[in-house]
Amino acid sequence: MSFMPSVLEIEGLSKVYGSFTAVRDVSLRVDPGEIVALLGPNGAGKTTTIKMIMGILRATRGTARVRGHDCFADRAEVMGHVGYVPDDPVFYDYLRGGELIQFVGDMHGLSSEEVKERSAPLMERLDLGDALDEFAVNYSRGMKKKLGLICALIHRPDLLILDEPTNGLDPFATRTLHDLIREVAGQGASVFYSTHLLDHAERVCSRACILHEGRLAAEGTLEVLQQSLTAGGSLEDVFFQVAREGGADPTLGDEPS
Ligand code: ATP
Repeated sequence: MSFMPSVLEIEGLSKVYGSFTAVRDVSLRVDPGEIVALLGPNGAGKTTTIKMIMGILRATRGTARVRGHDCFADRAEVMGHVGYVPDDPVFYDYLRGGELIQFVGDMHGLSSEEVKERSAPLMERLDLGDALDEFAVNYSRGMKKKLGLICALIHRPDLLILDEPTNGLDPFATRTLHDLIREVAGQGASVFYSTHLLDHAERVCSRACILHEGRLAAEGTLEVLQQSLTAGGSLEDVFFQVAREGGADPTLGDEPS
């Protein structure tokens, strides 16, 4: 039996907008070194869940904790442990790429030498070095994603949260991103990876959480989900099964009271 504390622990998390429930009683955990996919159809509640983990949206009920710290009440502490790449990163108009990385490093208490030492290999691998003197607002979508990834990794977070991370990335950068994810997980960090690209999830994630209409409709290692829900089908088969039936595992996704 393992006593390793989770990096991310979500319990009974819900977000209600008026009469509409966007996230309904979701409980899950992500352990050190795990790469976990967050899947679900459009509107399933993935981004809402991530925003509550990031402390930028207050949960109606339940808690999200990173390294034991409440994501809303202890947001500043939590941010020290988390790196986040949103689907559509937005940067200050008046900063150049290199200045932004330094700015984020400053916020995490890193010296300029540390920032350079950590960012240089990432910039080279992501082929971004030439653009560091350009204003980030002029970057292409893919370049913004790469810059966001470097900013998210600069303080070596315990938990990397990625919302549709390969949107806008070319196949070279996608492969580099997946290599980086495996490397940070190999060093003990955890990755929570929201995507619609099931082949990407299948390639890099060991476990998946599938949201459906705000509920956690299925959760488990890819092997177990594939065996239990589709008798050995693909992750795509699992996804369609869950989306059709709202989860076939009777131990999961009980209707809320
Ligand atoms: P997608 O895959 O399309 O990005 P998602 O799984 O990330 O979807 P969310 O963005 O979390 O879904 O949205 C979940 C539901 O909550 C959607 O039906 C959305 O319309 C609704 N929603 C989000 N924000 C609000 C809000 N401020 N007021 C009311 N409803 C909202």
